[in-house]
Amino acid sequence: MIAIGIDIGATSMKAGLVSDSGTVTKERSFPLGEGSSNETILSGLRELVQNLIPHKPVGIGIGSPGPLLADSGVLLSSANLPKVQNLPLKACLEEEFGLPVLYQNDANCAALAESLFGKSADWDSCLFLTLGTGIGGGYVEKGKLFGGFEGNGFELGHTTVVIDGALCGCGHKGCVEAYFSSRGFQNRYRERSGTDLPLAKDFFQRVNSGDKVAKEILDEGVLCLAEALRNAVHLVNPEGIVFVGGITEAWNLFGEDLEKRLRSSLFPILEKRLKIAIGLPQAGIVGAASLFFLPKV
Ligand SMILES: [Zn+2]
Repeated sequence: MIAIGIDIGATSMKAGLVSDSGTVTKERSFPLGEGSSNETILSGLRELVQNLIPHKPVGIGIGSPGPLLADSGVLLSSANLPKVQNLPLKACLEEEFGLPVLYQNDANCAALAESLFGKSADWDSCLFLTLGTGIGGGYVEKGKLFGGFEGNGFELGHTTVVIDGALCGCGHKGCVEAYFSSRGFQNRYRERSGTDLPLAKDFFQRVNSGDKVAKEILDEGVLCLAEALRNAVHLVNPEGIVFVGGITEAWNLFGEDLEKRLRSSLFPILEKRLKIAIGLPQAGIVGAASLFFLPKV
């Protein structure tokens, strides 16, 4: 069985053909940015899907940041795509291509991919984090995705780690995403140095080259992320945590510190059990397509 998997992120949409063994072929992408509107996304999706349709997929699976209505297939809004509002993804694509469309939160899709094909496939339970422009969260227990109502569960990025702290893209203050994400690092760096860093890799390059401000911001981010993870681990007691997303490429700059801070803050019974791993690079696409490989999510 083959399905189209599409991962809508803040800087691009990625699409590919995914087999029911988790293999991705014909991967393509379409650029997005803060100025992207409903129409930008729809025209990008048309272009991506048109190229994959001849391969006879059973349907189109889509993952995106939320909040969203998973069952009716509507992207309500997104902190990092501010011009997108009430976008009826499912209705538009079903009408245009005559194929069924399934839709879920992007971090839930990544969680699904990892639990089917990744390192956590044989774990009892796993917490998933997507570390990119923002932070997404997902949770799978005994093979079942915890979606929450309409797919909006486990929005770990928007849990509070600093009361009345830094402003987040969602409009609230003190979310962990405001401290540990590409957008968060860029905003904190601009506030403290007056310098714009267009890409997350520019920030990590500065950390790597010994920039004191960048290092302080990363250290603060690690503290905040460790605190958010501590809360989540005490809440659900997972067998492990899997991290995916672009920021994991810089894992060597923060991973050890993050793990140390997290482990030292947990109840020993929880810490003893906890596994930590980096996930599949294409988890978003694979997970979106995998919505078709399950009887019911
Ligand atoms: Zn937030």
